[in-house]
Amino acid sequence: MTEMLKGIAASDGVAVAKAYLLVEPDLSFETVSVSDTNAEEARLEAALEASQNELSLIRDKAVESLGEEAAAVFDAHLMVLADPEMIGQVKDAIREKQVNAEAALKEVTDMFVALLEGMEDNPYMQERAADIRDVTKRIIANLLGVKLPNPAAINEESVVIANDLTPSDTAQLNKQFVKAFVTNVGGRTSHSAIMARTLEIAAVLGTNDITARVKDGDLVAVNGITGEVIVNPTDDQVAEFKAAGAAYAKQKAEWALLKDAQTVTADGKHFELAANIGTPKDIDGVNDNGAEAVGLYRTEFLYMDSQDFPTEDEQYKAYKAVLEGMNGKPVVVRTMDIGGDKELPYFDLPKEMNPFLGFRALRISISETGDHMFRTQIRALLRASVHGQLRIMFPMVALLKEFRKAKAVFEEEKANLKAEGVAVADDIQVGIMIEIPAAAMLADQFAKEVDFFSIGTNDLIQYTMAADRMNEQVSYLYQPYNPSILRLINNVIKAAHAEGKWAGMCGEMAGDQQAVPLLVGLGLDEFSMSATSVLRTRSLMKTLDTEKMAEYANRAITECATAEEVLELQKEYVHFD
Ligand code: PEP
Ligand code: MG
Repeated sequence: MTEMLKGIAASDGVAVAKAYLLVEPDLSFETVSVSDTNAEEARLEAALEASQNELSLIRDKAVESLGEEAAAVFDAHLMVLADPEMIGQVKDAIREKQVNAEAALKEVTDMFVALLEGMEDNPYMQERAADIRDVTKRIIANLLGVKLPNPAAINEESVVIANDLTPSDTAQLNKQFVKAFVTNVGGRTSHSAIMARTLEIAAVLGTNDITARVKDGDLVAVNGITGEVIVNPTDDQVAEFKAAGAAYAKQKAEWALLKDAQTVTADGKHFELAANIGTPKDIDGVNDNGAEAVGLYRTEFLYMDSQDFPTEDEQYKAYKAVLEGMNGKPVVVRTMDIGGDKELPYFDLPKEMNPFLGFRALRISISETGDHMFRTQIRALLRASVHGQLRIMFPMVALLKEFRKAKAVFEEEKANLKAEGVAVADDIQVGIMIEIPAAAMLADQFAKEVDFFSIGTNDLIQYTMAADRMNEQVSYLYQPYNPSILRLINNVIKAAHAEGKWAGMCGEMAGDQQAVPLLVGLGLDEFSMSATSVLRTRSLMKTLDTEKMAEYANRAITECATAEEVLELQKEYVHFD
């Protein structure tokens, strides 16, 4: 049956392909007593063998698409399967207690997990516990004859359907086959959306219940520009979506002509168009899309893609690769922003009621717990600084004291490295993200001490509106054009300029075509966005006159009461194609 849904348009692109459901199946079972324990052991053996075959296959695929290092987790899983001590105990339990293999397996593995998790200050053991839990799930699935989803093994054109995609799920998606994804939860600024734009995969998020409406193999049409999704479309609808896909491809080809062009407005003013990246691999996309700088390197992915804290050398290599890849163009590296929706399996942080308001980002870095981790990162950055034009940025700054403490670590480690005879660049700018309203209000004071600001609107809007950026029920409060937000942005830009500093923006708003005219009018110096939005923005800027945009922006912040009024007023000043 044909069904139409509307979600949040999160990543441009149009696709029609078969659904691949990435949802956890029901793995519940009953404990039953068995008399033929030999047959039960044979069931266990068969499930172990099937699990081993699956995992070997997943591992090989992961090596192909992600490399040896990222595939290491599957080696650990294979080792659990082959552990004679644990498997022996499961067989003993089947024989002695005369219970089914599922129950025996669960009892023994629960005991191992509890033992390992009890070693609280040993992250290695914590991880082994997670491995055992994962592998147990797979064996139980095989015992029950249920299939577990495996996104890395997708090998035909698909639309991935999920409740939510974690950054590691998203990283496993092979762009060659995954043409789009659609989720129940999430919004334009959730990390799955940001990742989709980097990978250039169409995405519609926040549909509420797509997982309940689609079956594996259903045909699904997705329009990531409008947010429309059709399950089992008619032939006409398929043709319509394909035509929309072709029109989008044509427009992209036109924008591509601007790759080596200057970013100038109709009256000849230059604005810097930069790109946001998550890993050194993204640099190709940055250069292919003609970005003039990296305005935000989210280094937390370096930590999230790793089995343990990345070492100073590992980090140094990543930062050097990015700086060299940009060939002397500026690179703004943000120190790690763990917390909120970004967790590290090997870093045991207490569960919080409000993780977005909790112990995260710079708050961890300047604490005793995070001191070593932070210094390691700063040293790696300082060592890499000689390979290009490095700028360092601290996330989630609320107080001047926090900035000063972080800057002091930077100065100390710089002095230490110099004393060790290590070369360090002398012109590294050190700035902050403005993503907490307190810092936006006090920007004039911050501007005296920092080298630059980069406005993180994803969080700034979340905190100003008190609306969780992951919760689609309050997504109507994500209002970049609301005059309250525009006034804060204006305050930050003016404060920077009064001290001769520059102000950029690296939140998703910087690449939002309806926001660009306002930001040009407010005098934003640097716009950092998904690399895939750069050329379209360059094309739009050519049509804008800075004086007219300044008048528009000024009227928006002084005369308008709502976001709708701001967009209505825009019609007097801007004509989109
Ligand atoms: C932001 O908050 O706007 C930002 C750019 O950072 P992140 O999306 O990584 O929180
Ligand atoms: Mg942020």
